[in-house]
Amino acid sequence: ACDAWQKEAQEAKERANVADTEKQLALRKKEEVEIQVIFQIHSKKCVVCREHNRSVVLQPCQHYVLCEHCAAKQQECPCCKTTKSKW
Ligand SMILES: [Zn+2]
Ligand SMILES: [Zn+2]
Repeated sequence: ACDAWQKEAQEAKERANVADTEKQLALRKKEEVEIQVIFQIHSKKCVVCREHNRSVVLQPCQHYVLCEHCAAKQQECPCCKTTKSKW
């Protein structure tokens, strides 16, 4: 009986560990998204290459996030996934 109890306790501990890992992963993901959002708001650099300055207003969504080099290669807006009409 003692063995079974220990096994159960061990399993509960492992489940808790898994839950912890998932929580940390979710947290890290949230941080990444926040960094991305902050970058998009504050940087004047293209969100794709992060090298050139933004120079193109996307149509029809009006996002100003790409340089002309990346805009030419993108099929959709990296912000809202709207398919481009022209830019
Ligand atoms: Zn670019
Ligand atoms: Zn957009």
